Formats: sequence, structure tokens, C-alpha cells
Amino acid sequence: MENDISFNLQTKTVRLNSGYDMPIVGIGTYSLTGATCVNSVSTALQNGYRLIDTAYMYHNEREVGEGIKKSGVPREEIFVITKLYPSQFNDAEKSINEALEKLDIDYIDLMLLHHPGANDVKAYKEMEKAVREGKIRSIGLSNWYIKELESFLPQITIMPALVQNEIHPYYQENEVVPYIQSKGIVVQAWYPLGGRGHQKELLNDKVLKEIAQNHNKSVAQVILRWDIQKEVVVIPGSSNPAHIKENIDIFDFELTAEEMQKIASLERNEKHDWY
Ligand code: NAP
Repeated sequence: MENDISFNLQTKTVRLNSGYDMPIVGIGTYSLTGATCVNSVSTALQNGYRLIDTAYMYHNEREVGEGIKKSGVPREEIFVITKLYPSQFNDAEKSINEALEKLDIDYIDLMLLHHPGANDVKAYKEMEKAVREGKIRSIGLSNWYIKELESFLPQITIMPALVQNEIHPYYQENEVVPYIQSKGIVVQAWYPLGGRGHQKELLNDKVLKEIAQNHNKSVAQVILRWDIQKEVVVIPGSSNPAHIKENIDIFDFELTAEEMQKIASLERNEKHDWY
């Protein structure tokens, strides 16, 4: 039997197949750089967040590490995700060491391959080695879909703990999500609010606004809660302290089955980015 990846709404965590617990709401740091990134990370941590998503390609791993130190929250309470970009796949060992040096947090909680590319199996095997060496605790993938997973999984040893893909009410991946979850792999949504430039349309959606009014919550909170009820982890990005606080305040209400259905019917298969 596959491991249990159901969400614990008391602790607000999920147990990964690697045995580690991961928070189910975090902050994404794409496009946050310099002091903005440091402040977003420390504000999030001071407001109860314990999960941070970064990547080599966001050019902010150093600032994420600084934000962690600035927050005063003990490192062992925090779960950090970073990613190797395809340009790093050929020499992943060196790139893992560089990520560790920039983040300066002793170990990486979860490292993902950013998207499929040449040498991805080779890079994954280097991540497996780094797990054995204690440099990384859990490993996974991003932007992998059913076909890609079917060819990738037979080539590797450690089952991915998580797959991070684009998911929002206009791009729901209704086939992909249950497929991944059926393998005991946790699913995480990038662009949960549609992504920068698209979030306005989603946040003004009539159906979502009506549901938000029913619960006296914001549309952003309704979308994030919809993900949580589908057992999809969320990492909304924000540099606005009010939004950061709002995005984790989603545990005091529940969407009804009818509301979940209404959101399901908003699917447009509208992908907003490749990665
Ligand atoms: P997003 O979370 O869908 O949306 C972020 C946008 O929404 C920002 O403009 C933000 O502006 C706004 N926002 C956030 N909370 C809000 C709220 N409560 N009310 C109103 N507006 C709000 O997009 P994202 O940050 O690009 O994506 C999330 C994370 O996913 C990224 O940060 C990154 O970590 C990850 N990601 C991964 C991949 C991949 O290929 N693996 C690709 C893209 C993204 P403010 O700053 O003003 O709040």
C-alpha cells in the first residue's frame, strides 16, 4: 500500500514518503529579490509560515537564507524547498553544494528538478546521492505530468516525495493530481492565484467572489482553501505583509461540496506559464 499523504489540519502538515513532515501552506519567492525577498521571508516566518519555496533560477537563495536568520525562527522548524535548473543538470553535485552554500541552512529540506531536460535522470541520481550524504532530506520534481512520470519513475531509486505543478481554478490538472497522489506523492500548486499578471482576473471571478462572500473571506483565501481540501499544498507568492497574513488564515472555514463543485466548473485548461 502507498504511504498516507492525507493532510493533518490540526498540525497543518503532511507526511512525505521520505518520512518528513511538511507544512501545507508556504510562501513562494519567485520574482522576489534583494531586500524585498529578505523581508517577505521574515514576515512570513514571523506570521506562522514554516514553508518557503525558492529555486536557483529565482536568484534569491542567499536572500531566503538571510530572511530565515532575520526572522529569529529556529532553522529546524523551517522547511525549505529549492530547485535545480536544467542548465545545472550536467553537474548537479556542484550545483547542490552551491545551493547549500547560498542558503546557508546546513541542509536542504526538499530539492526538486525545475522541469524536464537533458540529463534529468543523471541529476536526480545526484540528488539521491546527496540524500544518502545528509545534504538533502527529500527530493522531487516540478512540471512533470503523467507521460513524463511514466517514463521517469522506472529509471530512479528514491520515489519523488512531491511534484510541484501549475494549478489554479482556470488550470486544475484534474487528471494529473489524482494520478500523482495515487502514487503516494504529494502535489503542490505553483501559481495558485494564477500568477503575477493573471491574479487580477482570478481574484475578480464572479463565482469565486460569491463563495468568498458566503464565508466572509477573500477570494485568495477561497482559492487556497479549495487546494487544501483537494490535498494540494499551496505556496502563494507575496511581498505585501497584509496578503502574507491573509494567505495563511485559511483554517477557520470549510468549503461545502457544492462550492467545491462550483470551483471545479471554472476549469478552462488555461495554462499561464511553462515553468
Ligand atoms: P501567485 O502566488 O499565483 O500570485 C502572486 C501574485 O498574487 C502577486 O502579484 C501577489 O502580489 C498577489 N497576491 C498574493 N496574495 C494575494 C492576496 N491575498 N490578495 C491579492 N493579491 C495577492 O504567483 P507566484 O508567486 O508567481 O507563484 C507562487 C510560487 O510558485 C512562486 O513564488 C514560486 O515559488 C512557485 N513557482 C514555481 C514554478 C515552477 O516552475 N516550479 C513556476 C512559477 C512559480 P503581492 O506581492 O502584492 O501580494
